[in-house]
Amino acid sequence: PDTEIAFIGLGIMGLPMAVNLVRAGYTVTGHNLTPERVDALVAEGGRRGGGVAGAVTGADVVITMVPDSPDVEELLLGPGGVYENAKPGTLVIDMSTIRPDVSRAVAEAGAERGLRVLDAPVSGGEAGAVEAKLSIMVGGAQADFEAARPIFDVLGTTPVLVGPNGAGQTVKAANQLIVAGNIQLLAEALVFLEAHGVDTESGLEVLGGGLAGSTVLQRKGRAMRERDFTPGFRIALHDKDMRIVTDSARAAGVAIPLGAQVAQSVAALKNQGHGGLDHSALLMIVQQLSGR
Ligand code: NAD
Repeated sequence: PDTEIAFIGLGIMGLPMAVNLVRAGYTVTGHNLTPERVDALVAEGGRRGGGVAGAVTGADVVITMVPDSPDVEELLLGPGGVYENAKPGTLVIDMSTIRPDVSRAVAEAGAERGLRVLDAPVSGGEAGAVEAKLSIMVGGAQADFEAARPIFDVLGTTPVLVGPNGAGQTVKAANQLIVAGNIQLLAEALVFLEAHGVDTESGLEVLGGGLAGSTVLQRKGRAMRERDFTPGFRIALHDKDMRIVTDSARAAGVAIPLGAQVAQSVAALKNQGHGGLDHSALLMIVQQLSGR
């Protein structure tokens, strides 16, 4: 494709996503706060942006994949940011997980400058990014979704337009609620099995074949048994997401008793200094509460 893509934010998710776009034949110019991540993209055939302006100038599509709402606001709207440097008509696809209201605001600000903005957060984790199997939840205009679709098809298997700007983030918040609850219950089941002296490898194998089976169990079960909490998805990011979930639920007047409780455990882990561990480290809180 002769579409030029600027890719900003080459972390655990962004780098493998950008690499998949290079492999699909796109010209991808990368930028990241820490330059080693750009080196890794260049080694795979990408280009070095050398800054936001360098990456964005001349691009037809700008993809951002950075941690949090203030990062996206600064990167898109800030001085020297994406909106200042993008040519009119550029498709700006923010794939970070951020607050739905911030997604709506940056989309409006983009439209005022003649830019086309989508929120397109993803699910599927690092493995989904590497294997190009992400689920992509898109908020924005139908025509912009169609324009972005060839790119989404490179990055994932399930791109779905779920509504106007911000709706992608609302669906992603629901995703994070479900994932956190899943991990929490898997952690409780594992500690429960261990306390009963049951072999957890065979235990998880048979659980995985029944109604208790889940992607979380498949992806995280072994690592949780082995207490390998290498991220994956960092507790600090899930804490950010549970805050989005609890704020959005409160704003809509929806009770999320289990979600609110898991949010407390995620926050506790972060406060204990474990923000850099994978979210499967929720198991540590179950152990602490069980005195094990
Ligand atoms: P990460 O911390 O590994 O990567 C973020 C990258 O963005 C870093 O390399 C950082 O240097 C860079 N960055 C931050 N601000 C920047 C800026 N202003 N300009 C340029 N680069 C900047 O995080 P991640 O795990 O890749 O997650 C990125 C986003 O995707 C987050 O919103 C996260 O919630 C979401 N997400 C993560 C996963 C996962 O499993 N890791 C899954 C789905 C969604």
